[in-house]
Amino acid sequence: MDGPPHLRMFIDGEWCDAASGASFEVRSPATGAVLATLPSAGREDVHRAVDAAEAAQPRVARLSVKERAELATRITDAIRPNVEAWALDLTLEQGKPIRESRLEVSEVIPNILWNTEDLKRVETPVLEGYSKPEMLYLLRREPLGTVAVITPWNYPWLLPGEFVVQALVSGNAVVFKPASTTPISAVHFLEAMERAGVPRGAMNLLTGPGGTAGAALVEHPRVDGICFTGETATGEEISHRAGLKKISLELGGAGPLIVLDDADLGKAARDIAFGCYNNAGQVCCANGRILVQESVHDALAHRVVEETRRWRLDDPRREETDIGPMNNAPTLAKVERHVAEGVGRGARVLAGGARATGRPTALYYPPTVVDGVTTEMRLGHAETFGPVAPLLTFRTLDEAVEMANLPRYGLSMAVHTANLHRAFSLARELKTGQVVVNDPVLYWDYNHPWGGFRRSGIGRVAGKWTIESFTELKTVIVNVGESPKPPP
Ligand code: NAD
Repeated sequence: MDGPPHLRMFIDGEWCDAASGASFEVRSPATGAVLATLPSAGREDVHRAVDAAEAAQPRVARLSVKERAELATRITDAIRPNVEAWALDLTLEQGKPIRESRLEVSEVIPNILWNTEDLKRVETPVLEGYSKPEMLYLLRREPLGTVAVITPWNYPWLLPGEFVVQALVSGNAVVFKPASTTPISAVHFLEAMERAGVPRGAMNLLTGPGGTAGAALVEHPRVDGICFTGETATGEEISHRAGLKKISLELGGAGPLIVLDDADLGKAARDIAFGCYNNAGQVCCANGRILVQESVHDALAHRVVEETRRWRLDDPRREETDIGPMNNAPTLAKVERHVAEGVGRGARVLAGGARATGRPTALYYPPTVVDGVTTEMRLGHAETFGPVAPLLTFRTLDEAVEMANLPRYGLSMAVHTANLHRAFSLARELKTGQVVVNDPVLYWDYNHPWGGFRRSGIGRVAGKWTIESFTELKTVIVNVGESPKPPP
């Protein structure tokens, strides 16, 4: 019988192995089977990828915007016929239900096209000199150079789909390092780019662990920009090692969904379940914590438990499945630690709360509701990153704001209320990149700025902000007053 396929990295336009010959296995959280082996990149491979990118970048920068936009469109054309097959591979390597995978792979197409339209419409002003009217200041947007894109395993298509092609069409060359539990999706993405005719060396893929390939990339003196998505602790380490490179950090969250006493509790409960259990809660903008006003606590808790019972935990390849296994053992172990610590301190499990048995792997964890959580417990202030709805209560709006802002994460927060005045007064006080009114914390669209306050990151992406984050502003200053006399 054939063994699992061996997939390769992509450096300087060639599919290749690591210089050391080292490789690693990708095992399915859904079935336990080894899906593929891939090269484990080391320093030598990082150098080769950066050299290739550096050599290719001036050629990318010289492409007209029309040529870059046509390249982006060809990449989306190469993804489109493969959505179904690549969604299945995503489900197998990541564990998310097939319906979510299909949506994730197919969403990459309009997202790239949206950013490409933004690129076509980049406008930079021409300013007249303030103190010297004979001067004109012509502003230009120019690429950073070589950009490293490092991504996590929770959205192996959506996140690279927000960055890699966008970095390229902004005129950069790219070295892309995906998470080591989900590199198969990245290989497919590169297949699409190769088919679309990406210039040699302009797009490179390194597979392997973050601590070696990722760290070497971050420290490389000829990498000009880093676009990192991942945990806050990793982001902090990267920001220390990156020196003066241009850096954008999309980090963790523990976003509260705040339910006020005048909210529509049925809608709130549905939004709580969706934002807590979608992608098994492994979402930066999951409903990390549910803060509920004391007088409606019992009614809401009852509805949340009812909603939770509707979410079917099963093989993620089945169409009916709502929640699949978690992606990896350390993340599940963290969920269990958080729940156990909460229970040890007096919280109560109202639904779920223990790994499912009799499944192909030990990574199946049911949707879980924990009541009586306080901000002293990890469930009440840390990023749990699993299918858990921790319920905390508050009395006044001031208290809700304090609890929401306490962990100093600030990616996305939500408020449920029928009163717009209360919604807006909370929106002003919450220290976060976005506030969602009457919808889940888990809210994302192509065209609003995405990014965090405080421990949730640095910089903004989505829409035109992505193009801005991959370019620098340059001013060309022209004296249009008296021209120098031509030489005789
Ligand atoms: P992680 O930080 O462990 O890893 C992210 C990526 O960084 C991986 O490719 C990993 O291999 C690499 N890496 C690890 N150590 C590195 C190092 N020292 N130097 C360079 N690269 C290194 O994160 P994860 O567990 O893969 O992802 C989950 C986290 O990502 C959660 O905290 C989640 O909130 C966050 N996230 C944030 C956003 C956002 O938009 N803000 C989106 C998705 C996920």
